[in-house]
Amino acid sequence: MHAPFSKKYLLKSNKGTSVVFFAIVLTVILGITALTLDIGVVVLEKSRLTHAVDAATLAGAQELVANSSNTRRVVEEYIYKNTGNLKDLSVLVDTSNRTVEVTAVKTVDYYFAKIFNKTMQDVSANAKAKVENIKSLKGARPLAIIQQTFVYGNLYTLKEGAGDALSGNYAAIALGGTGGSIYRDNILYGYNGTITVGDLIQTETGNISGTTETSINHLLRQCNHTPRCTYQYYNKNCATIIFIPIVNTLDVNGRKYVKVLGFGTFFLEGVTNRSGQADVIGRFITYSAQGETSNSVGDFGTYGIRLVK
Ligand SMILES: [Zn+2]
Repeated sequence: MHAPFSKKYLLKSNKGTSVVFFAIVLTVILGITALTLDIGVVVLEKSRLTHAVDAATLAGAQELVANSSNTRRVVEEYIYKNTGNLKDLSVLVDTSNRTVEVTAVKTVDYYFAKIFNKTMQDVSANAKAKVENIKSLKGARPLAIIQQTFVYGNLYTLKEGAGDALSGNYAAIALGGTGGSIYRDNILYGYNGTITVGDLIQTETGNISGTTETSINHLLRQCNHTPRCTYQYYNKNCATIIFIPIVNTLDVNGRKYVKVLGFGTFFLEGVTNRSGQADVIGRFITYSAQGETSNSVGDFGTYGIRLVK
């Protein structure tokens, strides 16, 4: 006869258990949610820091090519602008091995997990970039210069005018075909194919002085940067900066093949046309370009940069 009582008790007990159980579940869910939200913030901050460190390292390596003493400052400026406060920053510049390595540590505050007495976590990122000699690139101009020791800032004649050239060759080369209109397009826009060290390229014969003068002047007019670009301070994408294949010889008779040994970057200074003889003049600069790299090819001042970690 105790059945009704025990049934009632059981009912009460079930209700109590449900409330306690619900409270526990809710706490666990809230806890997991808090942690998940904070972990999300940590993951996001880690990803931001990684991107910033990668980009700062690449920017530093570019500066290592252009102005090595400025490398550290460029990395620091870049990273603080993009990440805000850091707990720790290390910048290792190795000029002999041509590497830049950056490690950054940032403290991320927890917002929700504070209820578990966990208030912050450090995230870190590391990247190392290496400067290597460029092996192949797109956008070369249809001019060539003979292998020599190039000196930064010195003036070089990138195309000879008539009269001082050899056997019908005036330092022009045929990229992607021969003839005046291809030559003109290659001067104006750069050759849209890829040239690789070791390639054999045909010379473009004739002095082509009118086309050369017109198209080089067109490139010079495209610099609308203020102040106007110079070989020391220039916009990296300015039309006055050109890549030219460095070849083994131009001392060939008529249309002949010459061998590409590397690439030089020049800042266009001008074109002089003295009674039908167009000389193109440029200053040799060091530059980081897009393209395949290798350290088994010669160092002619044009480099590619890659992240090695
Ligand atoms: Zn410019």
